[in-house]
This record gives sequence, C-alpha cells and structure tokens, in this order.
Amino acid sequence: MNVRAVEEYVFGLLPKLGVNKQRELVRLVYEIAKRDGISLSEILPAQKNLNFESAKKKLLARRYPVNFKTAAKDRFYLPKLELNPALRADLTPRPFYPKTVYIETSVQDSELAARVRAAFPKAEFKETDGKTQVGSPNFSRRLDTLLIHREKYDFLKPCPCSCSAACCGYNLINLGFGCRFECEYCFLQQYQNLHAVLLPANLDEFLSKIDAAHFRKGPFDRPRIGSGEFTDSLVFDGLTHYTEKIVPFFRARPHLQFEFKTKSVHIEGLLRAGGCENVVISWSVNSAKITEQAEHFTPPLAARLQAASETARAGYRLGFHFDPVVIYDGWKEDYARTVEQMADVLPKEKVAWISVGTLRFSRELKKMLENRFPENIILDGEFLLDFDGKMRYGDQQRKEVYQFLLPLLRKTFPNAFVYLCMEDPQLVRCF
Ligand code: SF4
Repeated sequence: MNVRAVEEYVFGLLPKLGVNKQRELVRLVYEIAKRDGISLSEILPAQKNLNFESAKKKLLARRYPVNFKTAAKDRFYLPKLELNPALRADLTPRPFYPKTVYIETSVQDSELAARVRAAFPKAEFKETDGKTQVGSPNFSRRLDTLLIHREKYDFLKPCPCSCSAACCGYNLINLGFGCRFECEYCFLQQYQNLHAVLLPANLDEFLSKIDAAHFRKGPFDRPRIGSGEFTDSLVFDGLTHYTEKIVPFFRARPHLQFEFKTKSVHIEGLLRAGGCENVVISWSVNSAKITEQAEHFTPPLAARLQAASETARAGYRLGFHFDPVVIYDGWKEDYARTVEQMADVLPKEKVAWISVGTLRFSRELKKMLENRFPENIILDGEFLLDFDGKMRYGDQQRKEVYQFLLPLLRKTFPNAFVYLCMEDPQLVRCF
C-alpha cells in the first residue's frame, strides 16, 4: 500500500485538516487497512457530519479494540507514515560472504584474521588503523562488510536492560556486533550505527578481565555472563571458534556461569570443546508462525531443539527464551504447541532457565521495521507507549500471556527457573 493513496483517501474525506490531524488519521487508516487486508474505501464509509474528532474516535476504536476504552489517550502512538521502498530488507537467501574485509593493523597476525582470509578468498581485504569509517549507509547491506578488530574498551558490562524495567542481573561480554539473521523485531536495525559485522580478534583480552570483575547475580545462584546481546552467540562460531576458548575458561571457574544465546544450530565448536555444567546454551524459541514469518533465515524450531538435545547430551545445561511472544489469533494454541515440542525432545532436568517476554520496541524501531518489512504481521497487535518509553501490549494482554505461559512452563520444566524479561517491576511482582 502506498502512502500517497492513504493520504489522498483521508484528504478526500476531510479536505480541510491541518498537518498533524491528517498525520494521525493517515496512520490509523494505514494500520487498519494493512492489518485487516481491506481496501481503504471500506474503512470509513462516507457520511454526513464526519469531522476530525468523530473520525479519529471511530478509527481508534477499530485499531485498538482491546485498549480503546481503557488506555489513556496519550498512549496511542500515531507517527507520520513514511515508507521508503529503498529500505526494504533483502530476503533473498544467500551464504554469508562479505565483499570487503577490513582487518585492523594490530590484529593482522591473529588466528581469527588467518581464518577469515582462508574462508573468504574472493573478498577484497583492506588493512585499517581502526579510524577508517567502514560499512554501508544502508543497514540491509551490513553483511557486505566484515571488520576484524581489537576491542579496546567495551569488554564487560551489566546488561542495560530497559530503564525502569525489572532487572535479572545479567552481565554482558560483547563478542561481536551484527548478525546474519533477519528477525523483523531485531533491535539492532535501529541500534547499530556501523552497518557491518564486527568481530573482535582479542578474545583472550576479554577473558583476562573476568577474574577481577565484579558481577551481579540477580535471582540466580551464580552470576550469569552472556555474549548474545549485539549478535547471535553462535552464528559466526564456525569462523571465530570463540566457543573453544570460552568453554574451558569457564569450566575452570564453576562459581560463574556463561550463556551462549542463539537461534543458530552451529554447535560443532561446543561439541569439540566438550560439555560443561556451568555453560548454558540457550535458544530463543517462538511459535511456528512467528519463526516462519518473522525470523528470516533462522533454523526452524525442530532444528533448534535437535541442536539443544545434542548439546545437553554433551554435558551442557540448556536455557530457552520465549522472546518475543507475539499476540495474534490462535497464539495460545501455537505457543502451547511449541512447549509440547520442547517437552517431547528435551531432557527436562537439563533446562536451567526459561525467560518470557512479550514483543516490545522503541518508537524508532517501529518505523524501521515497517519500512524493512512492510508485510509484517508482528506490528498488527495493539501497542501502547509504556512506562519506559517503549511500546508494549497493554497490561491486560501482557498479563494474559504470562498467566498462560508461566504456569505451563513451570509445570512442564519443574527444575527450570522461569522469569520475565524487561518487564514492569509491578507486573513482575504478580508472578
Ligand atoms: S538472531 Fe538476534 S541478533 Fe540476530 S537478527 Fe535475530 S534478534 Fe537480531
């Protein structure tokens, strides 16, 4: 659907509107037509005495049937509709093969640089002093550029979570930036300002900071440190071989636990490294519908669970993240089916933790997402501005998700710690 057609439709109904009022109606008409798959003319049949207030009220009631009567009016976010076809994501399947590889001077002789040279002989290789601007202006072209660098500052930090959200005491080790999957909800689309894949070659330096660091442990028995914040923990492991150094390092430090957070099935490095009780391999899981329609290029659930079973057999513990849970017609049955599939194949006693979080995003990400994935279904739900400035489903809908999933998960995996991720502390206290 093009923006011009929606604007003309609204202008045809109410020609004298100011810019801001027109913007709000255009946004509402667009979102309703997209969600319901109907033509514009069916949305607001021409009628006498239609004015801005009555039109907006009707449109809000139709766009937000669950929340219209109860949510404060300033929680409906109605930004200008701006769709740029040049930003659309390229969903053509292709292997990861960067066109240009930059290697910083200080890590030219590293093991990682050698592996990258062998893996991508047809790429153009350039040496950089670390100050050259690399990458594309377009996020969708980020896989064209790979930067092998030496991280100097950003080794370890507490998870920034979301301001005012309940904290689970997570600790981050930033082993890379950028991902080759295309999850429609991925915050990197709006967060990553250097459009390239960055992989540090100085893993030893990261690990050398750990013994002296102070880590939070939140509600867990030991501090948790994880690498899957700005990239998928395993998606590039065939290249980086980080697992083969990280696993033995943490095996010698049983007072800590390390989490590889992933959607990939690249477990070869883990299997070579051998199992380890305080290393948890955790998979993000979702309903089959969301995996198929919104997590492009990722392995299907069955493949992720197969990989999980193999790593458990090798001696690792497992984690799962139901994140983001998306509400749509039939979501309960679909998510229950995912839990059932997990119960069918996983060794239950090996599941250490499971988090649950409903879909949330910043205002900027909403605009990026609708530009990159104009046919998405994940934005069709009712999102309201929330306590931390992010957009979330209303409290009632989120409670319904947690009231359904938490007891189901706790019953199915009685040994696992089941918790909420990035939620309003008041709501967390109810569970
Ligand atoms: S796997 Fe994670 S990092 Fe990669 S695109 Fe999906 S959400 Fe983003």
